[in-house]
Amino acid sequence: MMTGKAQEGRATRRHGFGVAIRAAALLIVLSFGAANYLVLDYAIERADSFAAETERTLVRNDFSHQIDQVVQYQSQLSFWDKSFAELADGMPGDAFVRDELRDWMWSDFGFSWMIFTSSDGERILGVHRGQKVSERRAREKLHWVSDLTRKAERAYYKALSPDRGGFQVAGAKEDTDLLTPALPGIHVSGMRLIDRVMSIVVVQTVIPKTLYIPANRYEPTLLITVKPVSQKMLASAEQRFGLHDLGFTPIVTQEPGLVMTPVGADTYNPMVASWRPNMPGTFVWRSALPQIAMFVLVFAGVMLFVSLRFSALVRALQRSEADNAFLARHDRLTGVKNRSGFDEEVTRAVGKGSPFAILAIDLDKFKAVNDRHGHAAGDAVLETVARRFSERIGSRGCVARLGGDEFSVLLTGKHGREELMELAGNLLLDTRLPIAYDGQLLVIDGSAGVALFPQHGKSVHDVMLMADAALYAAKNGGRNRAVHAGDLAGMDAAQTGAVRAA
Ligand code: GH3
Ligand code: MG
Repeated sequence: MMTGKAQEGRATRRHGFGVAIRAAALLIVLSFGAANYLVLDYAIERADSFAAETERTLVRNDFSHQIDQVVQYQSQLSFWDKSFAELADGMPGDAFVRDELRDWMWSDFGFSWMIFTSSDGERILGVHRGQKVSERRAREKLHWVSDLTRKAERAYYKALSPDRGGFQVAGAKEDTDLLTPALPGIHVSGMRLIDRVMSIVVVQTVIPKTLYIPANRYEPTLLITVKPVSQKMLASAEQRFGLHDLGFTPIVTQEPGLVMTPVGADTYNPMVASWRPNMPGTFVWRSALPQIAMFVLVFAGVMLFVSLRFSALVRALQRSEADNAFLARHDRLTGVKNRSGFDEEVTRAVGKGSPFAILAIDLDKFKAVNDRHGHAAGDAVLETVARRFSERIGSRGCVARLGGDEFSVLLTGKHGREELMELAGNLLLDTRLPIAYDGQLLVIDGSAGVALFPQHGKSVHDVMLMADAALYAAKNGGRNRAVHAGDLAGMDAAQTGAVRAA
């Protein structure tokens, strides 16, 4: 019979262990979930930034392609004998503007501005959407592209080499891979906000196809063409690259989720191309998250199952360990302490040094019960006697069955001789009370020996020995009695000090 305290202690330990296993399982599940999340998050971030980088390249290349096209179209005027000849007497005449510029530039190619100007800006002719404008308006526009005109002028002078009293413009290297005609490298281009619309601007000195500049035409006349980037162009690029909100934004913009890249290789341009990227990662997130959540849930379920099974196993082990520990100290038949359990108790009592008494009790003629009524009847007697002893002693000490029909009682504290002999008498009474078994009453009695610590022995062994000697004396004295160890010395055949239990 385990004490309540010991049971409570074991239950608390078991509970603590179960909590630890569950906490460990939870930690594993959380780490698993977190690891999945982190790996996916990293992969997605990489995928997004890789996609954004690809989109940047596509957008840059697309604009550079658009610019090349504008250069090609513009060259039809700036790299043309007729326009070079037209500029011999200053700016182009009205007929030239009407016949060569107006329809061609606006209707066919959507050039919003076309400005001819001398390098000093003295002579100027501006055409806006097919209409000639005032010199003042033309000069205003010039202001926004002055860096480009300067660059184009430098490129022109750099390409000149003296020839036959005039100059030859360095020709372009032919490239058979290109489908567009090669142009002398004297044009410059950039992207500018003109009339509040992002536009491609191309500037080139007007030269003849022959590339020969007579000495009197050394001073360049520059042609500036402006092609606004239309919504249609942007929509087409959006569609081709699968982007959203493609447009232009100031370079200082800081908007999350907006990808930007400079286009047109133009250092003076404060505007950059911007769009909302595809973000394949977000798509992956959306499709992978439920799967990962599912995966983590299944894993959590498995971990729950494993942890429950494991706790159950540990609980069973602890229970069996506790049972074993109990059985090692208790008698299987009666549930009272066995010899080793009793030895522990007495050793502890001796260790404390405080007085106690040992009452050794053996049933008289117990064999006869076995012989007459069978072993099971003998067992019933042993169980009943043990129970009666335990009830009588209660918390005053402890009861043990040392083997066979031999019991021992440890009674803690100092007790007078009378009191002890009375208790021994009562214990013998307990043995004598008839025991009902299988419809009959079994009658038996017992003998007892009483020894005290420290009076009759200073060690466990000595006290037990003295109790046994007293018991032996009681048996020899005719059984059914208790003998006090203090009376052993003076005892001979006469049973001095023997107390008849009856
Ligand atoms: P005495 O008066 O001298 O004590 O004689 P006794 O018949 O009581 O015999 P003794 O104490 O020497 O021996 C105890 C007997 O108890 C021996 C054995 O047959 C019996 N016995 C031992 N263990 C058990 C048990 O677990 N169950 C039963 N039923 N009998 C047991
Ligand atoms: Mg006996």
